[in-house]
Amino acid sequence: MTIRFKERLEGVHPDLVRLFTELEKDKVHILIVEGVRTTARQRQLVQAGASRTMASKHLIQPTGFGHAVDVVPTNSKGQINWEDITGFRKLRQTILDKAEKLGIRVRHGADWDMNNIIDELEVREYIKRVGRRPFVDYPHWELVGNGSVAVPKPKAAKPKAKPITKKK
Ligand SMILES: [Zn+2]
Repeated sequence: MTIRFKERLEGVHPDLVRLFTELEKDKVHILIVEGVRTTARQRQLVQAGASRTMASKHLIQPTGFGHAVDVVPTNSKGQINWEDITGFRKLRQTILDKAEKLGIRVRHGADWDMNNIIDELEVREYIKRVGRRPFVDYPHWELVGNGSVAVPKPKAAKPKAKPITKKK
């Protein structure tokens, strides 16, 4: 029903913008924490341990957009309760349902391996499969692939002009 800080979706892939904007029609209150990140900010976050990778989808991707959004549920006053795991899980399902309806493929920071089981509920199995503990990031959502935006191909060298030959 309400989306706080919608302007933080600026520069984010249009599929994700559509997905999160559409949530306005549902009975949810959300707050956009972050969309596009600069490389400098990402480096800071990795150094602080708040992110694990410099290959973050929050950075501008080859499509020219950021491919990740951090979003949290709020109460009707727009306040966040970071301890409200139930709220995060409910929002997760709302987002998954909406994404399916819109045909947008997304990956959640609480289910990196995309097996539809929240990673913190399958830590042992996750470690077996992936080789390390999951980094559970409930607010994080990212696009799978490039969505509806075509990635511009690097320009091929111009073909040399054909010599004009007279046809007989
Ligand atoms: Zn994120």
